[in-house]
Amino acid sequence: MRKINPRSFKTATRGTSREINRQIALTLIRAHQPVSRADLARLMETNRANITFLINDLLAEGLVREGATGNDAKRGRRPTFLYLDSQQKCAVAIDVRATRTYLMMTDMIGQQIENISSFPTEPDPEKFIATLVRIIRQLLENNREIAGCEGIGIVVPGMTDIKTGRVLHAPTLGWQNVDLLTPLRKEFEDIPIHIENSGKACALSQIWATRSDVHAHNDLVFVSVSDGVGVGVVIGGELIRGRHNTAGEFGHLPLAIDGLPCSCGANGCWEAYISNLATVSRYFGKNLAQRRPRALETANFTVEDLIGKARAGDAKALAALHLTARYLGLGLASIINAIDPSQIYLGGEITEAWDLIEPQVRDAIMERTLIRDLGATPIRIVPAIEYPRLRGAVALVTAPAFAAPKVA
Ligand SMILES: [Zn+2]
Repeated sequence: MRKINPRSFKTATRGTSREINRQIALTLIRAHQPVSRADLARLMETNRANITFLINDLLAEGLVREGATGNDAKRGRRPTFLYLDSQQKCAVAIDVRATRTYLMMTDMIGQQIENISSFPTEPDPEKFIATLVRIIRQLLENNREIAGCEGIGIVVPGMTDIKTGRVLHAPTLGWQNVDLLTPLRKEFEDIPIHIENSGKACALSQIWATRSDVHAHNDLVFVSVSDGVGVGVVIGGELIRGRHNTAGEFGHLPLAIDGLPCSCGANGCWEAYISNLATVSRYFGKNLAQRRPRALETANFTVEDLIGKARAGDAKALAALHLTARYLGLGLASIINAIDPSQIYLGGEITEAWDLIEPQVRDAIMERTLIRDLGATPIRIVPAIEYPRLRGAVALVTAPAFAAPKVA
């Protein structure tokens, strides 16, 4: 699925489908709103009659609404501005993590409607689904004034089959071949449900973000370091999925042949060196990596606590973070050598210590990248407050409406 670039695109002409023109119009209204019909006609390089026809359809379907009138001094008329009708419908975003699951509700352009809520993730999938259903119902009930829910987007820390909605393997959850979709579909018959790997969804949300600074990057990698490591790769504006939707699992690329045990069952994976659990283990001087992350939550010491200790002058805590930083940089160097992205986005709790670890990360990248320019690949930190994984879940619902359809 490729994004329509609102600055450079080809308007569909005679013979191409009405659907393409609708999606281009929606994309342009989202990028330029408030926008008048005359401006939209200019942007689409088409005539007013075509625009009137197109907009009447979108108004009738409730996808676009008319708002304030503007000034058009040149022509002495007062055009009515067009907006996406984003508030009538909502999307429910769900971020499933090893320890807790987070929920957020947004309108159709991704603006948050309700406070983010969370509950502990049950290790047993059946119990987990029962709790999830109850909480989604509550959320929809609390927002009854909204006309409808356009979709539920779920991101999971594991490999997923996007057609069947099965979680093929989520090492940090201990789930293999879990069918999330069928029981949820039974409960929410009228609402489309999308399930995706969290790293891929984070990458998607970056190409779909409405911020202006992201339009330039057609080649990007999103790396999320948390209980596990999720990676999403975008090349040429398109998310790389591979044959089984498992492409980009850099977290399980070996950093050492006979290294630390990883949650996936193998040894020496990058994840086993940089996950939150790995960093905290390093501080305590024992390997907790074979245990599930929730064992650590019970232990009541998180990577945020560790960062706090490092800031307070605990040399052991700082040393643990610095070693994670070095391993993080070595793995990023492999990704840069393999993909050569224009930008790397880095999310996860460890980024709260970015000012403490950036030199170690950069040194390790510089040490292992194959040419000097690769060593300077820009890294943008995506802070926890931007909720990258929940944003990724939202994108699963809202992005398809703004996608460039495949033209045969
Ligand atoms: Zn692994």
